[in-house]
Amino acid sequence: MKPRKSGWEVYTREEIEKFAEDYKEFMKNAKTEREVVEYLVEYAKKRGFKDIKEVDKLKPGDKVYSVFKGKTAIFSVIGKKPLRESLRIIAAHGDAPRLDPKPVPLLEDKDAQLAILSLGYYGGVVPYQWVNIPLEIRGIVATKDGVKKVRITNLIISDLLPHLSRKRFDERKGASIVKGEELKVLLANTFVKKEKDKRSWKEIVLNYLKEKYGIEEEDLVSADLEVVPALDPIDVGVDKSMIAAYGQDDRVCVYTGFRALVDAKEPEYTSIFWVVDKEEIGSETNTSAQSEFFKYFVSKLLELTEGFSELALRETLLNTKAISADVGAVVNPAFKGGLYDIQNFAKMGNGVILEKYLSAAGKVAANEAHAEFVAWIRKILDERNIPWQPALLVSKADRSLGGGGTISKFMARLGMDVVDMGVGLLGMHSPYEISSKADVYATYQAYKAFFEA
Ligand code: MN
Ligand code: MN
Repeated sequence: MKPRKSGWEVYTREEIEKFAEDYKEFMKNAKTEREVVEYLVEYAKKRGFKDIKEVDKLKPGDKVYSVFKGKTAIFSVIGKKPLRESLRIIAAHGDAPRLDPKPVPLLEDKDAQLAILSLGYYGGVVPYQWVNIPLEIRGIVATKDGVKKVRITNLIISDLLPHLSRKRFDERKGASIVKGEELKVLLANTFVKKEKDKRSWKEIVLNYLKEKYGIEEEDLVSADLEVVPALDPIDVGVDKSMIAAYGQDDRVCVYTGFRALVDAKEPEYTSIFWVVDKEEIGSETNTSAQSEFFKYFVSKLLELTEGFSELALRETLLNTKAISADVGAVVNPAFKGGLYDIQNFAKMGNGVILEKYLSAAGKVAANEAHAEFVAWIRKILDERNIPWQPALLVSKADRSLGGGGTISKFMARLGMDVVDMGVGLLGMHSPYEISSKADVYATYQAYKAFFEA
């Protein structure tokens, strides 16, 4: 193997930084899947994308989008060739691990004299990482009279002091050093005085919700609220070469994939960027990669171009080339022992990660891209001198290390050729995930090359 190139050698600092600034702006604003979709639609509309519902014919160069349930969206630029010859698709997920309030979440603890919020969690959250950091609630509450947008800041979950933790440290194992059920957000310490000696902390919260949002306690049953880190993206390192941000899995691939579609020159083949929901919990529900929405959209494209038939849809999907755009992991200098087969593992700054399959541990239940397709991708990347690195998420053939999956297997079921490609992160799934600015830029270039090839 040739030594892998770094984006720092290939691109100028200026172009890397410019893209990083745009990306950080997106990450600051888009902290829920709904906010991701809103941000992208806004961005696309300003650049000539039209809602597919408002279009009755499509020709090469036309740009359309469609949103479903506010949580998934597809953007497309119509190419010169018939759809049946091939589509080019990049798909990434807009959901991220987080803490979700339970349907009946408001509690008061009279001993502690606090109102608290009771949580469950969403996806691969490691609970101890979420204590003692600033948090906020973002999302919507659907009342019987309409939808209220909610944003509540100044929140935190407090850990137990070490002075009283000896028993806990002795008895518990790492992942449960803080348990999911122990994640309680502090909501209020002031109280409403009822009769003599009776106080209610919860009522302070209920009054706040009523006054600020017109929400009753029962309305929280029909809410999509998410507790997310109240942490803005920051530069990392004395050289400011990296970015720390919440939700880079997988919003770094959302942003780079989406921008690649918007910025690519007019394509030969119809290009699609698809942001999906619910990847972190197995791609169920009607906004996920397994939903009918994608087939609906391609059917609609066919209807508005060369004409829809069930056969045309099948042929289009079978001829499609796709990238499952999701993050990988890079070597962590603090935790090397026994974890990595180093030459099959990605490194920070060495470009977009190309994963033929995700795990060396038996390839069970994983998508594996065909050799010919991987060669086709390699050719595109090398022709444009784009830094890339072959890697596996679990590089040792040892199932006990763990594992993970992406949406590539759901895409492959439709018949398309699909390979996993994305940015490598440190601290994946933590409240502050870290990427290399050079990798973010190289990934954007790789996705753009795919659309333009
Ligand atoms: Mn992911
Ligand atoms: Mn993930």
